[in-house]
Amino acid sequence: MMVQPARKSYYFEKGYSDLYNSIKGAWINNKISITGFWSKLSQKLSDTDTGALEKLFYIVMYVIAILSVIVVGTIVTLFLSLVHILILLCVMVIIYIAFLIMWGVDRLYLIWNKIFSPCTVCTKCSEYLIPTYLCPNCGVEHTRLTPGVYGILKRECQCGTIIPTTFFNGRRDLKAICPACGSPIYGKESKPICVPVIGGSAVGKTMFITAFIRDFAVSVVPASNWEIEHYSKEKQLLLENIVENYSKGNVRKTTDKSAISINFFLKSKDNLWYPEKLFFIYDIAGEVFGGETEDRLQKQYQYCHGIVFLIDPFSCPDILNDYFSKISPADRAQISQTNPNDALDIFIQKLQDIAGLSPSALSKVPIAVVINKTDIGGLQKLFDNTALAEIIARNSKKKLTESDAQDIACREFLRQNGLGNLVQTIEMKFKTNKFFDCSALGHSIGQGPMRPSHVMVPMRWLFSFIDRDIAKGWR
Ligand SMILES: [Zn+2]
Ligand SMILES: [Zn+2]
Repeated sequence: MMVQPARKSYYFEKGYSDLYNSIKGAWINNKISITGFWSKLSQKLSDTDTGALEKLFYIVMYVIAILSVIVVGTIVTLFLSLVHILILLCVMVIIYIAFLIMWGVDRLYLIWNKIFSPCTVCTKCSEYLIPTYLCPNCGVEHTRLTPGVYGILKRECQCGTIIPTTFFNGRRDLKAICPACGSPIYGKESKPICVPVIGGSAVGKTMFITAFIRDFAVSVVPASNWEIEHYSKEKQLLLENIVENYSKGNVRKTTDKSAISINFFLKSKDNLWYPEKLFFIYDIAGEVFGGETEDRLQKQYQYCHGIVFLIDPFSCPDILNDYFSKISPADRAQISQTNPNDALDIFIQKLQDIAGLSPSALSKVPIAVVINKTDIGGLQKLFDNTALAEIIARNSKKKLTESDAQDIACREFLRQNGLGNLVQTIEMKFKTNKFFDCSALGHSIGQGPMRPSHVMVPMRWLFSFIDRDIAKGWR
């Protein structure tokens, strides 16, 4: 255990020295009695007035006294020391067991609830279950603020302040920093839910996130009796900005080489869960994504609980050729130049190399493959009710649902248009995968408020794997 800037509890530090001192004191007392008797005896013997018989009497008396101190004193001292040691040991064992139990309870609570305090700056913090907490009075760093030899439920900081050491008595209210890089951590001991939205440049990631976040915040959250909370004014403004962009249909492309990350706490007003969920929806600028720069940002992928992989169908030459005449010039200017196959390969490589996800860990992450922009050029026809009914009828023995039919329609569409490789890679690398069609903007560029369709379907599907509470309560 690392040395902490706090006072160890009595039974782990002062208790030992007290025991040592009391045993030492008992022996010293015995020695003092013996030397006392001895000096009295020698005084009597050197006294010329004392007769020989009397001297003999004193010799017998003092020798008996000295012997009894040696025998009885030793026995009594040994016995009392033993009692002292046993009491100290018992109390120590009890306290040890108590703090081990509390330590275990604290650990299990964090692990069971998948609680973790992610740092958005570095990647190393995933090795730590709890962040470094700061003393509210002197600011000194407590790197292991858990039940232990410094205290079971609370500990005394070196400055004298009493601080809590468990999840249930206020530890998470203390200020915290990342143990690896020292950046402040806001989402302390909450349950992070991280969903990166990925895809090549201009596939509509920002649009998709805008549509999802706005509809989630404005419709799903109130209807489900949930509540959104922000940990900073800046994050709150970002969300307000999103709602405004939605109503104007004006979504900036994330051209600055940084990830937009939308984070907020989601609480249940009915207290159906605790602690709150901490949403992380990442949008990485396509240029960064394609250009393999700014690896630091990509490290955020390691907290990946579900993936949205967006495809711009018109980035595929076969599809673009077929539909070119039906696409407005404004939309043509926004077609993604990244081949979806390349985008997927780079992404998988990044997840493995930078985030350090093993192929088997990666295969457990659910992925929603979403064909975006299906409102453009009449592409919607391939996925509308008539098309789906036809697929259901064709597979009548399988008793398909509409969403199964949608999945089949999307896979077929991609295979027929030269993206069979992509479908195959997804099926090989991700155990839980489903294909969706969607239109995040809902109409041609520059035509008023966003009218997204099918954005919530893939997200709701993802959440059915990511978080049971959210899946259950989603209205
Ligand atoms: Zn960090
Ligand atoms: Zn302090």
